[in-house]
Amino acid sequence: MSLPDRKGLPLSTIINRRKASAMLATAAWGMTMPARAAPPRRLLLRGADHLLTMTDPPRAKTDMLIHQGRIEAIGPDLPAGDADVIDLSGHVLMPGFVDTHWHMWNTAARGLWRSAKGGFMPTMAAISPHFTPADVAISVDLALAEAVNSGITTVHNWAHNVRSPAHADAEIAAMIRSGVRGRFAYGYAQDVGKDQPMNLDHLSTIARRRPSNLVSIGICARGPDRSAPPVWQAEWDVARRLGLPISTHMASDPKSAASGGIAALAARKGLGADVQLVHLTAASRADMDRVAQAGSPVSISPWTELEVGYGVPPIADMIAAGLLLGLSVDNMVLAGQADMFSVMRLSTDLARGLSRNQLLMEDMTALRWATIDGARSLGLGQQVGALAPGMRADIIAVRVDALNTAPAADLPSLLTHAARPDNVSLVLIDGVAHKRDGQLVRVDLPAIRAKASASIAKIRSAAAI
Ligand SMILES: [Zn+2]
Repeated sequence: MSLPDRKGLPLSTIINRRKASAMLATAAWGMTMPARAAPPRRLLLRGADHLLTMTDPPRAKTDMLIHQGRIEAIGPDLPAGDADVIDLSGHVLMPGFVDTHWHMWNTAARGLWRSAKGGFMPTMAAISPHFTPADVAISVDLALAEAVNSGITTVHNWAHNVRSPAHADAEIAAMIRSGVRGRFAYGYAQDVGKDQPMNLDHLSTIARRRPSNLVSIGICARGPDRSAPPVWQAEWDVARRLGLPISTHMASDPKSAASGGIAALAARKGLGADVQLVHLTAASRADMDRVAQAGSPVSISPWTELEVGYGVPPIADMIAAGLLLGLSVDNMVLAGQADMFSVMRLSTDLARGLSRNQLLMEDMTALRWATIDGARSLGLGQQVGALAPGMRADIIAVRVDALNTAPAADLPSLLTHAARPDNVSLVLIDGVAHKRDGQLVRVDLPAIRAKASASIAKIRSAAAI
């Protein structure tokens, strides 16, 4: 390990000092309205040109019946009965995308990846202390609106600027309000010392109850690469005692990879299906094998890994190691937009280019990463990520008759290399329509835009950048 073993206050002292404030914190989201009311009528999605279930070969001209948030039936010419009917001719019907790692709190800083302070890290260090609970909430609102617009129906909100209990509560409340499915990963303040844990008392308080039927709780930790051993070990222990899934950035760059963090995790039984590792951009093949053997899922964000200078994502090696991969947009500061289609495109083409093998992977593999494998990696594989009777109705319809999508010889190729977010015309989450006829129907977009603009202007002024 290259991390300095910094001596700060004993962990127990830090935790005790925080206990009082944590116990006083009000879980504001406890009073938030339920994410949805069960739709009273059945919904029939009629006549999609193609149906992509992710578990069977594509089918032509298929209907889908939805009731009370779940898929009731799939097949040709289903009887409408008293159902509301949506005509999906000219579309492919498929599961919504699952984003497996997204720092939503800084979305209002879109494009602000450099400043007079320097590049991404110093710029984030300058602005992050100035985000209030209201600021992180408006950034989450903006991120979730963009998620839905892009066809992303499940998010993993990696909240690594939790500056107070109120910051966490504000992000959770925004997620509940949105009606988007997701996990809130409880984190730390950006400027917290490597020898200080996240607020484990507040975490313990909120972990006792599930925020809503669509939103669950996990943690995002700095882990062995970015915090001292007593800190990450305490965070792992608390998360596992509470039954919370863990996520951490690992082996993002050569220095981190050389510090032996993955081996340290493995030695302490700190890997497993409940521990997602993010990036692994500089991980050795031995470390990838270690991760695959332990069953830890991996989230990659190819655009931001390039943009921040971590390196070229070693996707061909990751495939060879047999890792369970999920895709992510990471953050809007660097990525600019939440376009899962382009993430799939970049992933397939990096794998082909790196291996100098055009046939190394199928386009369908990237579609799996963006749907069923992403869902499995978040522990949601029994609920979403594929289409079958009994699954929750997280569904998107993508136009296949648009200028940029027609004609297309191959459906997976169309979805990974031709389609764009503006081709997504219908988005259902738990059976509830969030986008219809290409328009967002549950958010006040002008209001969100205005609030986000005011928020980042205020923050830039306070940070003097
Ligand atoms: Zn990240």
